[in-house]
Amino acid sequence: MRDFSNDHSALALNTATLGHMIDGHGFGWSPEKVIDACAARGFAGIVFWQREVGDRAVAIGERVRAAGMDVVGLCRSPFLVGTGTSNDLNEAKAAVDMAAALEARALTVVSGGTEPGTRGVLESQKRLADRVAMLAAYAQQRGVSLALEPLNPMFGGNRTCLMTVRDALRVCDMVDSPNVGIAVDVYHVWWDTTLAESLMQAGSKRILSYHLCDWLEDTRDMLLDRGMMGDGVADLKSIRRAVEAAGYAGPCEVEIFSAEHWWKREPGDVLDIMVDRFRRDC
Ligand code: ZN
Repeated sequence: MRDFSNDHSALALNTATLGHMIDGHGFGWSPEKVIDACAARGFAGIVFWQREVGDRAVAIGERVRAAGMDVVGLCRSPFLVGTGTSNDLNEAKAAVDMAAALEARALTVVSGGTEPGTRGVLESQKRLADRVAMLAAYAQQRGVSLALEPLNPMFGGNRTCLMTVRDALRVCDMVDSPNVGIAVDVYHVWWDTTLAESLMQAGSKRILSYHLCDWLEDTRDMLLDRGMMGDGVADLKSIRRAVEAAGYAGPCEVEIFSAEHWWKREPGDVLDIMVDRFRRDC
């Protein structure tokens, strides 16, 4: 396991941590301002959300690399199942195009929930696999990887049909494409006592990204009350040990949705605290 106690060169910012995933939150820093602030602190890279990139993907990607960092990822695909999605996947393909223009390492895929007219999750997972396979072929031509992110089971129904790493790997197996893997987010997997075995099955080729925050003991809003690392009850060091034992050696991206706390703090302070907590608690 890598020693980060005096080193945050693997630390990356997901701009959701500054409230950039939803209109009306955060301090509205431009991508350029975020890039400069992350570069000044020696970060490995940044994960952007589509809404802040707009039509400037090429310029933003170049600026990140000129600052000595990588575009670690792009959030996120539209839901691929659960909404009566058509098979043309035009919106998802546009997300792939944006990731390619940014030269992002991966596009995060949030599956969407249970398909209309079905029950449970297995049928939805099959339909998801069909659509991911179509999207993967398109993404492969553009050099983009797709990271399927299992979500905490409380998001089943309307947001996900992938509740565990095991679920996501099942879909990866169905798709069987070299540019399709998983994103491991501690918010979604911290409770799973079988996580280490699932991650070993995934192996280094399938683990495409690793997302950090913490699970607050008294979570007040399931979507928008994630904790800063060290403020909650997730065993962050054990999870990273398991992720790295499976072969992952990439960036660790901090992704904290926190409407009532961190999105109200001055962004520079949030970034500084991230560095301290990463070194101490992750
Ligand atoms: Zn995540």
